[in-house]
Amino acid sequence: ASVMTPVHLGEATHCPYCALQCGMYVSGGSGREAGGTLTVTPRHDIPANGGGLCQKGWTAAELLTSGVRLTTPLARASRTAPLSPVSWEEALDRVAGAVLALQAEHGRDAVAVFGGGGLTNEKAYQLGKFARVALRTSQIDYNGRFCMSSAAAATNRAFGMDRGLPFPITDIAEADVVMMAGGNVAETMPPFLRHLRDTLIVVDPRQTRTAKQAALHLKVTPGTDLALALGLLHIAITEGYADQDYIAARTTGFDAVRESVAAWWPERVERITGVPVASMRQAVHLLGTARKAMILTGRGAEQHSKGVDTVTAFINLALALGLPGRAGSGYGCITGQGNGQGGREHGQKADQLPGYRRIDDPAARAHVAAVWGVDPGELPGPGRSAYELLDALGTGGGPRGLLVFGSNPVVSAPRAAHVTERLAALDLLVVSDFVLSETAAMADVVLPTTQWAEEHGTMTNLEGRVLLRRQAITPPPEVRSDLAILAGLAARLGREEGFSDDPRTVFDELRRASAGGVADYAGITYERIARETGVFWPAPSEDHPGTPRPFLDRFPTPDGRARFVPVDHRPVAEDVDDDYPFYLTTGRVLAHYQSGAQTRRVRALNEAAPEPYVELHADLAERLGVVSGDMVVVTSRRGSARAAARVTRAIRHDTVFMPFHWEGVNRLTNPALDPTSRMPEFKVCAVRVERSDEG
Ligand code: SF4
Repeated sequence: ASVMTPVHLGEATHCPYCALQCGMYVSGGSGREAGGTLTVTPRHDIPANGGGLCQKGWTAAELLTSGVRLTTPLARASRTAPLSPVSWEEALDRVAGAVLALQAEHGRDAVAVFGGGGLTNEKAYQLGKFARVALRTSQIDYNGRFCMSSAAAATNRAFGMDRGLPFPITDIAEADVVMMAGGNVAETMPPFLRHLRDTLIVVDPRQTRTAKQAALHLKVTPGTDLALALGLLHIAITEGYADQDYIAARTTGFDAVRESVAAWWPERVERITGVPVASMRQAVHLLGTARKAMILTGRGAEQHSKGVDTVTAFINLALALGLPGRAGSGYGCITGQGNGQGGREHGQKADQLPGYRRIDDPAARAHVAAVWGVDPGELPGPGRSAYELLDALGTGGGPRGLLVFGSNPVVSAPRAAHVTERLAALDLLVVSDFVLSETAAMADVVLPTTQWAEEHGTMTNLEGRVLLRRQAITPPPEVRSDLAILAGLAARLGREEGFSDDPRTVFDELRRASAGGVADYAGITYERIARETGVFWPAPSEDHPGTPRPFLDRFPTPDGRARFVPVDHRPVAEDVDDDYPFYLTTGRVLAHYQSGAQTRRVRALNEAAPEPYVELHADLAERLGVVSGDMVVVTSRRGSARAAARVTRAIRHDTVFMPFHWEGVNRLTNPALDPTSRMPEFKVCAVRVERSDEG
């Protein structure tokens, strides 16, 4: 049966941007020839958006027909020559030739791959296979390391499974109280707000659009969310809110955690976090007396050098209150990138194989090697994490060639000026993208790709629901899908077999590779997704109903119980001092997505938010003698960025904020890494702020 389901509204597909993966119709497939009139209409059958879209979604079709998209491969005649159009044959021959030469001279790991959390499941899977089987390099990681890795490590540790929301998103509406730590869904994914029906508690250094809707806003000092969570748990235990029956029946390790939070009395936590004791008590009372409650974390709590422990502390609080595994209650992580969930399940992470398997597990290697038709001994071991990989490029022991798919690290990596230097030091940089991003502009070869509505593919949204993005429009003749690019390169590297350019064929292989793993897709087919409007993994067989709420009866740990893990607060990697007296935190604005490579090229979005800004408190503005619109320079130990001031009283006195969708902001951020997840400390570093002399 065909999965194409044309209706009068157009082809039923999903938004190209964030992890909510709002359902939409795209109509006017002949619009490309007619001069570009494609129409987006929201779908009502996808619960995540239920008929809603944000500004990004409404304008998503523009890039499909935009003149700024790439329509032919580009390459340089020499390192210093400009990018010029070349044929596909020439482009792929050149990439394969350079790869073979580098590997012959410097070894397999001389060539690395950098993937993306926006790639479809099929592409993420094929990219991991391409690296391990065609390139036989261990050097692959992806930008999801900068997004989801802290929550993933913490939830694996506590629950034995990492699924952003281990319940349907519609369950959130059942909760009487929701605490959101470091998430600003009113800007990042506005249709999420429809699921927040009752009392909202927000933890954020800024009074964001989301915080403005909260009954209680805990305006925490950047980098102290962990201390706050410990303080909340201390109050929950000492004031009798802990659910002893649940703790006894469904968890292990509570006694050690109870002892570890004994020293985190509220007054001490107030001194560290700046959150008044009364507000902490109110938050615990609201959560502890609610019939149903949820604790959710976002990047604000996670993008820290102690991100795993911070999420763990919030999970400990949720467990003490008896929330996870109860319908309408729980802990969840609000995934960010479009396929942030699926992108981390199928093997583009340095330490993972498909099915969310560990690459150092002999049984996992044997299973995946059998699906791939190779000897397990041929599979490389774990590689470097994203920042460590970028940091090693072009160095003595690091990769000399890099293939980038669906990512723009020049804008999005921490300490970005340094990362740009490393990219410039490469012998070979290849970028596959549909626009000339800042990273693509540096490349030796640029490969123009199809976009979201030009091909079939599956995405796994923030609920772990596998969705089908249907093709709605024919791509321009001279662009290729990433799958076709990988097939073309693999053939030139001596791997004719096993690299199909057909998404359904790749998905069927992915199903087999994931079978028996934590993220088991074996029972999910394109037809089934279409019929059931998405299927929740794990779904080990076609007659398995899928798993909307995997923790209801037991947790997927060896003993079926969730694990309390004692953690302790530690300071930020770079604290404020006399030279750099303010905290910088970064985040998103409504009109833009990720590095802005796509949204900055959409007219209405660019008009809505044309440039970055520095949000600073009115008292600081007065001291600097600046008003909104004046230019200021923000400087950290790694670099400077210049932007217009936006004066407010909605941010802490000690903190400034910049959105990260433009080049420059991440020149400031600190690549100090979490020891477990290797997440950089994007969300806090020390800066000074000065009036710009340049007018
Ligand atoms: Fe929905 Fe996110 Fe797309 Fe906005 S960007 S329409 S919230 S999927």
